[in-house]
Amino acid sequence: MQNLSPVFFALLMLAPAVSAEVQSAFQQKVMQKTGLSVKQDAGTVSSSDCQQGAQADEGYWWSDHQAIMGTDITVELWHQDKRLACSAIAAVMAEMKRIDRVMSPYIETSVLSQLNRKGAYRPVFVGRELFALIEQSLEFSRSTGGAFDITYASAGRHYSYRDGLKPDGDTLAAAVDAIDYHNLILDVKAQTIAFSKAGVSVDLGGIGKGYAVDRGIGILASLGITQAMVGAGGDSRIIGDRRGQPWVVGIKNPRSKQDNVAVLPLMDISVSTSGDYERFFEEKGVRYHHIIDPQTGDSARSVRSVTILGAHAATTDALSTSVFVLGVKKGLALINSMEGFDAILVDGEGQMFVSDSLLQMSAAR
Ligand code: ADP
Ligand code: MG
Repeated sequence: MQNLSPVFFALLMLAPAVSAEVQSAFQQKVMQKTGLSVKQDAGTVSSSDCQQGAQADEGYWWSDHQAIMGTDITVELWHQDKRLACSAIAAVMAEMKRIDRVMSPYIETSVLSQLNRKGAYRPVFVGRELFALIEQSLEFSRSTGGAFDITYASAGRHYSYRDGLKPDGDTLAAAVDAIDYHNLILDVKAQTIAFSKAGVSVDLGGIGKGYAVDRGIGILASLGITQAMVGAGGDSRIIGDRRGQPWVVGIKNPRSKQDNVAVLPLMDISVSTSGDYERFFEEKGVRYHHIIDPQTGDSARSVRSVTILGAHAATTDALSTSVFVLGVKKGLALINSMEGFDAILVDGEGQMFVSDSLLQMSAAR
């Protein structure tokens, strides 16, 4: 995370009446820090984009949510000044859109789509950001014994959960043959990636939203915001608290829209949930959903939901998908072996399991 310049910090402290110069300094800072321009219309940020929430102390909570990356992006933060708050939120939204343009498999011109089209024929230059995220994905593949594997998409691309479509036996068999993170050939110096065979496809759906959340939080922190939440579907990260109170995050009951299986008071943390209820269809009593076991190319079915708590959202995102594939026993063993992480799982029978340190915490209460 970048450090805030002392000068800028001083500017932000000038509240609540912030001068036009300070506001424009803030806009410039957003642009310098993020490379993004913040939407402006004649000096006001439109209220439909940025909502004023509850008053707390000498400031307010501000929020916006937008549909980006095929999910609901939410940004909520506390600040004394509307203009500054709304500029910061707009900068996060712009960053989400930028990441989507690079990494979406649904946007033909994205770097990821180009890699998928050409990677079997020649090395494709992907740039520093995508290269690093794919490298990080491969680290998760290694540390999870292959449960996390972005080449899952070799099979995953043959499913449409919205249209209720799945591959036939032959298509699936050929696709499973292409799933293996070892099929990715990385050239660090050239920042290119190639596929070792035809039929390989990659998708960053298991880590990309978490990465985007981390980037969003990084932007807010670099702008001096100390109390905020950025969420992208099932992946959220919180900095600070809610003015003296913890954030309260509910973990959904995977088989009920209204109920929670747990409610967690949280601060300064990332939380990611992977569930079999987000995108799925049922055929002959079998649920086909978007988390794929790389061994079979079919949905992983031993658990219904996995929530991971940890410092960074890219990590909790990748681990929630990984633990979903690994199941209760191996998944909990993995999380218990890692410092600074916790897990809450709901298995196929609806029974809840938690990691050792959460168990100790709840026993101590
Ligand atoms: P979401 O927030 O989209 O529900 P999850 O964290 O639950 O995301 O991850 C599911 C997504 O991860 C899928 O939509 C897919 O893009 C990707 N994915 C599915 N199976 C795997 C796997 N075994 N390894 C890595 N990524 C996967
Ligand atoms: Mg995940």
